[in-house]
Amino acid sequence: MEAGLFGGTFNPLHNGHIGIIKYVKQAFHLQKIFLFPSATPPHKSIIDLVPARDRLEMVKGWAENREGFYASDIELKRKGPSFTIDTINELKNGAFKKPHGSRLHFSLLMGSDAFFDIITWKKQSLIFQTIPIIVMLRGDRTGIDPIASFIDEYISKGYKLDKGLTQFTHEHLQPVRICNVPKIDISSTMIRARVKKNQSINGLVPANVENIIKKKDLYK
Ligand code: ATP
Repeated sequence: MEAGLFGGTFNPLHNGHIGIIKYVKQAFHLQKIFLFPSATPPHKSIIDLVPARDRLEMVKGWAENREGFYASDIELKRKGPSFTIDTINELKNGAFKKPHGSRLHFSLLMGSDAFFDIITWKKQSLIFQTIPIIVMLRGDRTGIDPIASFIDEYISKGYKLDKGLTQFTHEHLQPVRICNVPKIDISSTMIRARVKKNQSINGLVPANVENIIKKKDLYK
């Protein structure tokens, strides 16, 4: 069974996240997508970062009763910064076995901005050895050239782009697949800024997220 892992700060979860994961789920025939909020993101400034339990509540509230989407607290249970390689290793050691069975083949989903950041990640070369990656190009169909140059320069010269321009394959490393997701101009930064200015976020985040932000008076 094919499954996607989608990590993020989700500060807050917004309709951009949701639009792209719904798209990639269909395009890559993923039966399950696991969203895992990071406890302490190692690469982001923590200004305006609301507690992990609030971010998890947002993701959980959206995912429950949605077929094929699950919220995971795997990174919240670990102490210290949330490193993706640690999450991947936990999963390989069967962390999801009980509720989801042992036949899950995971791919790591990430936006192109996160992908370009990957050279700063802990044990990034191990990530490329361990798990296929699906890079979601944010609405930019000409965006494959920078990905190709980046892979060539920083990851490995052994990756080859296929003729259909949809994936990079390597003799020894895991494939890097490309998904041209629809352009959705929403970011968590934008949502936080709107809340601060008392502007409406209706239609930009799911209803449950809007309710949590209002009820707990977040991002003010
Ligand atoms: P911030 O504005 O605080 O930097 P963000 O909106 O980018 O946050 P994250 O939780 O950091 O949200 O993102 C998790 C993942 O979702 C990243 O891989 C990011 O590239 C991707 N992503 C976020 N928003 C969009 C969007 N509108 N379209 C495509 N990908 C997105």
